[in-house]
Amino acid sequence: MKLRSLPYFLAIAVYAQPPAVAPLRGFSPDQWKIEHDREEQAKAIPQAERLHIYMDRMAAKPHHAGSPGSKAVADYLAAQLTDWGLETRVETFQALIPYPTTRTLEMTAPVRFRAKLAEPPIPDDPSTAQENQLQPFNAYGASGDVTAPLVYVNYGQPEDFEYLKKLGVDIKGKIAIVRYGRSWRGLKAKLAQENGAVGCLIYSDPREDGFFQSDVYPQGPMRPADGVQRGSVMDMALYPGDPLSPGWASEAGSKRLTREEAKTLLKIPVLPISWADALPLLQQLTGPLVPESWRGALPVTYHSGPGPATVHLQVDFDWSTRPLYDVIATIPGSFAKDHADKDQWVIYGNHHDAWVNGASDPVSGASVLLETARTLSVLRKQGWQPRRTIMLAFWDGEEYGLLGSTEWVEKHTDELDRKAAVYINSDSSGRGPFIAGGSASLEPFIAEVLRDVTDPATSKSLLDAVRDRRTPVVAIAGGTPEPREREFHVESLGSGSDYVAFLDHAGIASLNLGFASGDGVYHSVYDTLAWYQQFSDGDRTYSKTLTQVMSIALLRLADAQVLPFDFGSLSASVTRWIEEIRKQLPRASAKVDLRPISVQLMRLSAAAKTYDEELSAWSKRGVPASEKLAKVDESIRKTERTLLSTDGLPRRDWYRNQIYAPGMLTGYAAKTLPGVREAVEAQQWDEANQQVRKLAETLRVAAAEVEGSSRLLKQTQ
Ligand SMILES: [Zn+2]
Repeated sequence: MKLRSLPYFLAIAVYAQPPAVAPLRGFSPDQWKIEHDREEQAKAIPQAERLHIYMDRMAAKPHHAGSPGSKAVADYLAAQLTDWGLETRVETFQALIPYPTTRTLEMTAPVRFRAKLAEPPIPDDPSTAQENQLQPFNAYGASGDVTAPLVYVNYGQPEDFEYLKKLGVDIKGKIAIVRYGRSWRGLKAKLAQENGAVGCLIYSDPREDGFFQSDVYPQGPMRPADGVQRGSVMDMALYPGDPLSPGWASEAGSKRLTREEAKTLLKIPVLPISWADALPLLQQLTGPLVPESWRGALPVTYHSGPGPATVHLQVDFDWSTRPLYDVIATIPGSFAKDHADKDQWVIYGNHHDAWVNGASDPVSGASVLLETARTLSVLRKQGWQPRRTIMLAFWDGEEYGLLGSTEWVEKHTDELDRKAAVYINSDSSGRGPFIAGGSASLEPFIAEVLRDVTDPATSKSLLDAVRDRRTPVVAIAGGTPEPREREFHVESLGSGSDYVAFLDHAGIASLNLGFASGDGVYHSVYDTLAWYQQFSDGDRTYSKTLTQVMSIALLRLADAQVLPFDFGSLSASVTRWIEEIRKQLPRASAKVDLRPISVQLMRLSAAAKTYDEELSAWSKRGVPASEKLAKVDESIRKTERTLLSTDGLPRRDWYRNQIYAPGMLTGYAAKTLPGVREAVEAQQWDEANQQVRKLAETLRVAAAEVEGSSRLLKQTQ
């Protein structure tokens, strides 16, 4: 089986007069050519030179959240969008945004050493020598001053701490040193804290993103000896966004928690360091030799400690509340006019804040969003108006913990519930393979979009390029790759960029699209225009292609007569995931009864099949837009929302989606069917059975909604 929507294509193919153009889900055949023609027009608009200029402007200076640089980028974006005739507003929020004031790391025994904690400028890259750079630090680690023996804990994953326990190496009262890679950094620090460490250092081992991989900047793309990866260590598995306003928007004068009450703030000091600063510390560790899988690429024999290396770590912050500027441009849809209260929103967002200059992260993606905005504005001047309202959003404060997007979703929750159809996200985009993450119900839709755009690397369609790729790739924003098959599947979304609040909190079907980008300068002072020109998409070929993908996706989603969702893909995906969970259960176990889910999955799959048949029958009839069709559309939009539960996931009620969540212990990587899966993984059988019943009920309601859509569609005859 290839695409889930194959039966639909086949039904189309038996037409008396087969149309000469490729079918478009959600459009009647008489609309296909018109839509394709408009898309061809759209594809010709994006320009490499403009993409280059946007980056030049946005990555010119450091622009971290809360800084004048960030405000300047927001102002530039708002002026540009307004200039193109788009209704643009800046929405301001307030969030806890700590800046480091003290950072000290020294070894006090057995030899003295003081860490540099600085990234030296590169002579040929003036951006690296600018003022107002935010020094390397981890946001939302605690202020603290500790001195203790050091212990090496590999990647700081749960199994690494387990292994040390078995070796008899106690972490209590020690300072943990872990390396970047494999898991989200926040979980490394959180697990160190839970295991009793009083401090945590996170270093970049050259094996992951330094000289072991390739030449280092400026000779090559990888991280130099003094390069440091900044980043948030907020406990985002509980909730993202402003730590002081979980579940509500943080605006001037709104209610706030105290820092002591905020559950996402760590209680131990954490500091990211370069390998040049880590090496002298690792050289002074003795104790057990660590296994080969724990060893990096440094010229040292890796030992676990504890000690004799003893380090003094002191960090302090200015814990101020600072402003966030979300820039939102709107293209109002005609749909709102025709169907009064039935306006629907299609939203595309990318963050604009960076850790330093952020040419790759986030400006490469933000430039594509800006060029997509211009593309749509050109079409609009030629007379096009979308049926649904399109919103283009540049988020602030993503790096600190998805602040701008989360506060925005929390502020507009009710309206989003009534109107939002789809959220599309992008972030860093380079010239690696194309990566499509998203909700299963959008799988056939995005496959059709990728079918119609050419991959710059292979000159095949992007769809074929994605399907042909057999080896796993590094996902954008640090996601963990899933095993790949010949057929096309979107990767499930975990965390790591601004789709989280839309998908996991508001229940809006989401996509995360882009070309994979190298991570050698990720979150460092070396992520500059000069680096991007030399080692990433210098000629903007891939950025142009991504602009085409985004423009076409928005045109289709905004103009389709019926939203192009496919719930057969959802039921097929859930079936796959349930099988994965079944395999994790102890053999011949009667502990967890998954049958209630299977029963409802059969119903959902049957309902989706019927809907597909009705959709293809409707398509043949070619009925134009009507009040009745608008009702079908509304029902389809609502189906995704049925996947939410009001009381959320166990122990983290901000996460309300029953199908997708970032893992409690993985961070970036998704846990599909999180309630059931995480209970099974923790061998909590009562909770697992409870979650099975809850998920079965969720699927029952979803199936009923799809059945309703079919009935409504039938009535359009
Ligand atoms: Zn980013």
